[in-house]
Order: sequence, then C-alpha cells, then structure tokens
Amino acid sequence: ARGIVAADLECHSGGRWLDYGTAARLLGCYGIQMAESIEADGPDSAAAAAVTIGPPVVLKATGPDLVHKSDVGGVRVGLGAPDEVSRAYREMAGMIGPAMTGAIVQPMIEAGVEIIIGGVAHEAFGPMLMVGMGGVTAELMADRSFRVPPLGDQDAAAMIAELRCAPLLTGYRGRPRADVAALREQITGVGRLLDDLPEVAELDLNPVIVTPAGAVAVDVRVRLA
Ligand code: ADP
Ligand code: MG
Repeated sequence: ARGIVAADLECHSGGRWLDYGTAARLLGCYGIQMAESIEADGPDSAAAAAVTIGPPVVLKATGPDLVHKSDVGGVRVGLGAPDEVSRAYREMAGMIGPAMTGAIVQPMIEAGVEIIIGGVAHEAFGPMLMVGMGGVTAELMADRSFRVPPLGDQDAAAMIAELRCAPLLTGYRGRPRADVAALREQITGVGRLLDDLPEVAELDLNPVIVTPAGAVAVDVRVRLA
C-alpha cells in the first residue's frame, strides 16, 4: 500500500484523485473487495469487456475530472448485448464530451442496501472514518456515524447500529437479511488503511452494495495530499 501511494505521489505530487484501478489496488491491500472492473477506451473494447464479464453489466464513464458520474449521464446499469454496450458508450461520450477519457465495465451487482464508507483527514482529530446510508442520495439523507480509526469489529457493529437505515440490513418488513459481517470487515479494513496512510486526504467507497451474499464496493474515490 505504501508503494502504491509513494509511486502515485511521485508522478502527480498529490492533491488529485487516484484513477479507479490504482484506488482499487490500494483497497485490495486491506482485503476490501471491489466489483471486478475492466477498462475500455472505446465502444468496441467496452463491448468486448461486457462479453468477458457476461451480462448484465454496468458501463461507467471515467476521466480525471469526472467525479459524480451519474449526474452527467455517465452510469448505465443493466446493459446486455454487446451492441447495446457499444451504443451506450457512444451516447455517453456524446453527452459528456472530452471530460470522458474512457470507461469501465462492471458486472451488475444484485439489488441490496447501498452504504457509504468514507474517510477524511480532520485537522484536529487526524483521520476520521464515516459510515452512512449510501448511493446517490447519501448527502441528502445525511444518515452517518463517525469514529477515529483504527477500529475493531465491535466498533464497526456499533457504527452500523447508530444508522437510521440499519434495520434495512437486518430484515426490515420481510426484506432478506444482508451480510452485515462482510460490511463490518470492509469498515475495519478502511479503518486500517486510514490509520496506516496519512497521505490519504479523502476516501469514499460509495456505494458498498450489501446483499445476503456479501458486501461489494462498486465505486471508489481516493484523494492523496
Ligand atoms: P457516481 O457515484 O459517480 O454517480 P456510481 O459508480 O456510484 O457513480 O454509480 C451510481 C449508482 O449506480 C450506484 O449508487 C448504484 O445504485 C448503481 N451502480 C453502480 N455500479 C453498479 C454495479 N456494478 N451494480 C449495480 N448497481 C450499480
Ligand atoms: Mg458513487
């Protein structure tokens, strides 16, 4: 993890968002599972990636300045046939313009509860870890809990229990029970990362999709300083 951070700081001198692949490798050092992602640099390679992964897939625009992808039409879920994927790529590129430098293709994760795990470097407390209700409405809902890392499994459990959305994970109104143990592992993993790497100024896993079968992060942003 230190090597990945040092290499990126060397070529970009900090203050920028890591590209998706580098961020995913960094999280992998802490056992944090990300959805499989294949990079594509055009409509044809996006279609080929979709065949490799197998339908249904998700297509996401990438680019150094693309932060909120879905706000600009840069996320298309539930795509099937290769020509549907290449068409979606062209439509995206037309809408977004030169800010889109490529795309990633991911398998479509089954519906679950969307959770955000975040980290910020607080000027007084040092690294702070946040867990909250995730997805594109995370900021609107502002359902969050905070701790100073590192944290253990019980701390992670307490953070989850503090959320108003917690019952959605544990069978609210006949929903299936989600794999909360897998979510706790992701939380403690992010805690270790933040504790180890003071160069991480900001980190967002949003969303982590928590289903009965596990917890999978499908989007990540990491900023080094
Ligand atoms: P951004 O946050 O930049 O808008 P995301 O990658 O977080 O883009 O995607 C936005 C939303 O699309 C997610 O909150 C989720 O609902 C859905 N989504 C993204 N990737 C997947 C995936 N691989 N499987 C299922 N749903 C996904
Ligand atoms: Mg996101």
